[in-house]
Amino acid sequence: MYNQVAKRYLFMAKNKIVSVNPSNYESLGEVEYSSEEEIKDKVKKANAVKKEWKELGLEGRVNALRKVLDKLSERKDELAKLAAKEMGMPISQSKADVQDGINFFSWYLDNASKYLSPEVVYEDGKVTQTVFYEPLGTAAVITPWNFPLSNFVWGAGQNLIVGNTVVYKTSEECPLFGKLLEETINSAGLSQGVFLEIYGDGTVGDFLAHQDINLISFTGSTKVGKHLYRVGGEKFIKVVCELGGSAPGVVFADANLDEVIEVIYGNRFTNCGQMCDALKRLIVHKSIFDEVVERLKKKLESLRVGNAEDEATDIGPLVAKRQVELLEEQVKDAVDKGAKIVTGGKRPEKLSGAFYEPTLLTNVTTDMRVWQEEVFGPVLPIVSFETDEEAVAMANDTKYGLGSYVYTKDKEKALEIASRIDAGMVSINAASYINACSPFGGYKDSGIGREHGKFGFAELTQVKVVAIEK
Ligand code: NAD
Repeated sequence: MYNQVAKRYLFMAKNKIVSVNPSNYESLGEVEYSSEEEIKDKVKKANAVKKEWKELGLEGRVNALRKVLDKLSERKDELAKLAAKEMGMPISQSKADVQDGINFFSWYLDNASKYLSPEVVYEDGKVTQTVFYEPLGTAAVITPWNFPLSNFVWGAGQNLIVGNTVVYKTSEECPLFGKLLEETINSAGLSQGVFLEIYGDGTVGDFLAHQDINLISFTGSTKVGKHLYRVGGEKFIKVVCELGGSAPGVVFADANLDEVIEVIYGNRFTNCGQMCDALKRLIVHKSIFDEVVERLKKKLESLRVGNAEDEATDIGPLVAKRQVELLEEQVKDAVDKGAKIVTGGKRPEKLSGAFYEPTLLTNVTTDMRVWQEEVFGPVLPIVSFETDEEAVAMANDTKYGLGSYVYTKDKEKALEIASRIDAGMVSINAASYINACSPFGGYKDSGIGREHGKFGFAELTQVKVVAIEK
């Protein structure tokens, strides 16, 4: 396997990553693939400095990383504009994402000592037992493209704080963003080797994962996550996996539709539907099915699809042409098996980038790809249910278990349903579970491990207990 990777890698090394604007397919620039020697050298540097980074102590690291946060804040407009241009997130959402990333990083820094300070877990007249949280070493952090700043903050932020050094690979879909991030972080004066970036596609990520590292923190597809879990297994190191999802949204008959339609829209169509925990399968009580479909149709037909850099855009392009083609295949499969397109279902005629109209599908059956696979785009399949049992069974009828959504005015019932959904996160009505202090992660094929808060810090550390006589 290793040799295969190296061979493929040498082929890729002849190339450059071309950054393409998905709103119009214009080239934005090129970035060199990291060479095999460069990756090895960066891992060596990260390993060489890990003792120093650990011994700096939590307070020292937090102070050093506050400078990184300041630099990111200073350049937040630039970061947001580049994300819109390079991966197609509408600029209004991209600004919000960059601000969210900054807020999360800030929370991690403000709360690190609460969760990483030594903790007395046992005491009697003779002995005190104290738990210490120690770094694991060098982390290979590999992320996707869908929220370029948040992907970095969620993947690398807590790693750096706990004392792990980081070799970071951003996605090949946003290499220029990766360069801007590297430049911004380097300007904060961290010791050389604490944070290093490499560039390239999956072959480069694979090569990194096979180096002398102590942890893999991966965010991305389930397929790649499972592969890296096997790589980590061979090395006998920890692998934290934040993977794909196909979140159900269950709308009960008593739901407040005036509020819920907007919430469903946001949960499914933000970032053109390219969110891991987006609402990807809508399950609606039979008595309100037609009304929900009609209201969502009206909402989707009022949206402005267009260039991501335009402030008025609601729905931007997908990240790349290949994603449009995949979406077309998934919708075609559904239509071939009897699904009805209520609205959308095609590329907009007057736009030349990676656009796809916001789409609703009914007559959906569970043998369709849109039900079985993760759909990473603005397409929402809708089915109906009659009993609560049926709704829960449909919600859990997926290999994934990341987010989930329940809509009802009956809070007691909502909590009971939440307890029966096999997912790491449940949102009831308009309440969001995304918070720097709350665990984010999946059941089943959606991942192993959690990010954020005390759970995320603990995930990235070695726990040591020291017993001492009194
Ligand atoms: P992807 O798995 O194709 O790629 C993710 C990253 O892994 C990229 O940097 C890529 O270059 C790298 N990679 C690819 N093959 C690799 C290999 N063999 N070894 C090492 N690295 C490799 O995913 P994507 O298309 O970039 O992103 C979309 C996916 O990410 C979706 O499934 C989405 O649900 C998921 N995602 C999950 C979360 C979460 O927190 N659970 C967040 C965002 C996105």
